[in-house]
Amino acid sequence: MTRLALFLISAWLVLQPSPRAHAGDDPGVVFTLLLNRPQTQTLRVVMEIPQLTSTEAAVSMPAWRPGRYVILDPASEVRTFAAFDAHGTALPFRKSDKATWTIQADGTAQSPVDLRIEYEIYANELNLRTRHVDATHAFLDASSVCMLYAPRRADPVHIRIEAPQGWRVSTGLEALDDRTFFARDYDILVDSPLEVGMHDLLEFQVDGIPHEIAIWGRGNWDPERLRRDFADIVREQGAIFGSLPYVRYVFQLHVQPGIGGGTEHYNSTIMQTRPSTFDSPDSYRGFLGLVSHEFFHTWNVKRFRPAGISPYDYAHENYTRSLWMAEGTTSYYDDLTLARVGLIDLDEYMKRLGRTIDALRSRPGREVQSLEESSFDAWIKFNKSGPDRDNTTVSFYGKGALASLVIDMEIRRLTGNERSLDDVMRLMFEQFPHGSDGYTPEDVVTIASAVAGTDLDPIFETCVRRAGPLPLEDALAHVGLELYQKPIKGAWDDELGRTPEAERAYLGLKVASGNIGARVRAVLEDGPAFDAGVIADDEIVAINGSRVEGGTFEQIERSLQPGQDAELALFRRDELVHIRLKAGSKPNSTWAVRMVKEPTAAQIRAFEMWMDKPWPNDEDDKDVGLGG
Ligand SMILES: [Zn+2]
Repeated sequence: MTRLALFLISAWLVLQPSPRAHAGDDPGVVFTLLLNRPQTQTLRVVMEIPQLTSTEAAVSMPAWRPGRYVILDPASEVRTFAAFDAHGTALPFRKSDKATWTIQADGTAQSPVDLRIEYEIYANELNLRTRHVDATHAFLDASSVCMLYAPRRADPVHIRIEAPQGWRVSTGLEALDDRTFFARDYDILVDSPLEVGMHDLLEFQVDGIPHEIAIWGRGNWDPERLRRDFADIVREQGAIFGSLPYVRYVFQLHVQPGIGGGTEHYNSTIMQTRPSTFDSPDSYRGFLGLVSHEFFHTWNVKRFRPAGISPYDYAHENYTRSLWMAEGTTSYYDDLTLARVGLIDLDEYMKRLGRTIDALRSRPGREVQSLEESSFDAWIKFNKSGPDRDNTTVSFYGKGALASLVIDMEIRRLTGNERSLDDVMRLMFEQFPHGSDGYTPEDVVTIASAVAGTDLDPIFETCVRRAGPLPLEDALAHVGLELYQKPIKGAWDDELGRTPEAERAYLGLKVASGNIGARVRAVLEDGPAFDAGVIADDEIVAINGSRVEGGTFEQIERSLQPGQDAELALFRRDELVHIRLKAGSKPNSTWAVRMVKEPTAAQIRAFEMWMDKPWPNDEDDKDVGLGG
């Protein structure tokens, strides 16, 4: 930042009244975010720490952001840093670790100093959902924008936005006016990102509580439908917990090419999706799964949190063995909510469930890592997507959702369907309120066992603490569903005179489209390519002389017979390499879920209690169900 720019900011700040509406005697911290050159993807931040009484003040950028359990080091994009006293005199400072600036302020109790810190940030991380600024908008997650002054972490924070004319601000923070916002402490600030720009704004109410949908981007969405479908999700999940734990809620939505996913926050969420989401009912229903997932987090992880991530340690990894519940149980409820309110039909629900089961059962890592281990090592394994991931890890999302289903069914079975995982969720919400020390893995077992009226430790041992299979067949049978292997019908099957039930050739490779062929993303340990020496990033250009590309790999793999010799021609770095192997085999089917043909009365009753709708008796409905 130039000296002139610093002077201009300083002059501007002197003219602004400091917002202290809620602060009382507490001096707190005031941030001013200056978006006066958004086209440069930069953002200037003025951080005021009034009435500082210490010799030194250390301010730090968090190393990660809540909701994404991996070290991101946003301090790396701090471009400039300076500190001043109330007279505008520059104060000396030093970097004391990768994310911390320590300022020599010389404040004392007798003569406190009004410290002003000014820094500039480069903001071009869109899909990390940390900070992104351009000529059209700014998305700002405070964990990557606002530094922490630890002694005032619990104090009120005011945040002021200077943005181009016509831009508005949508955030879960309390608004003091259209440019000034209040957080009761730094943790709430960090959990309340800001969307600033000329985004669309939709509003709806549930139980008299206002909800907003702030949409940056373009797409064919139907505003009425968004309001209605979002409200259905809010109502259904609110009913599980008994109430909506906020006075206002904001759905921030980015609709842009090439992005996806979402992050939960205190009384808001940031969700990202592609414009094509709104072009087909299928992709739209997929998107509703994201909405449902993020909203369920309002309770699960934004109110009751695992010990280890409550309170947050912003400087280091926060270890917990319970991400399977924070994320997996949330994943269990995302589709279940949609099915219960009818935003997806039963057929679609079973299809999604089948996909999750198939993904787990085709992952060699299922025999290696438990859900607790996957949770604990999220920082270095699951959330750092390396090519060996499928061999050594399970997803605390996918397997966590399935473990939640098993536990839910066990509680329902043991209580004659009178109690369920819904009760566990409600009790967790009551017993571990926001700001508490969080729950331990043992607390979850204790609460679930109390709800079930039986010690559930053995089922947690099987599902959560140990690697290996989940008793899914038993769990699904309780509500009249069953797992089966659904044949895959491929283009070559007829030509090769192969029935869909037969075994098919399997190499054990996951590929993507590369520059010239199929680029190997992962080599699975249960296929022959692993021992034969195919490695990640090899680019396969031919199998047995037939040209391969990203889009044709699977078709050519399927044209082989199990046990057949295959020669792979591939480029490894800049060398052509030939690898011979014998094709392995695997069932020519995927795991899928369907309704049993002749349910017992007990199964029908259990299903209806679980799904909150009648067992489809009508023949048409049943046919849909049997489609898997
Ligand atoms: Zn989540």
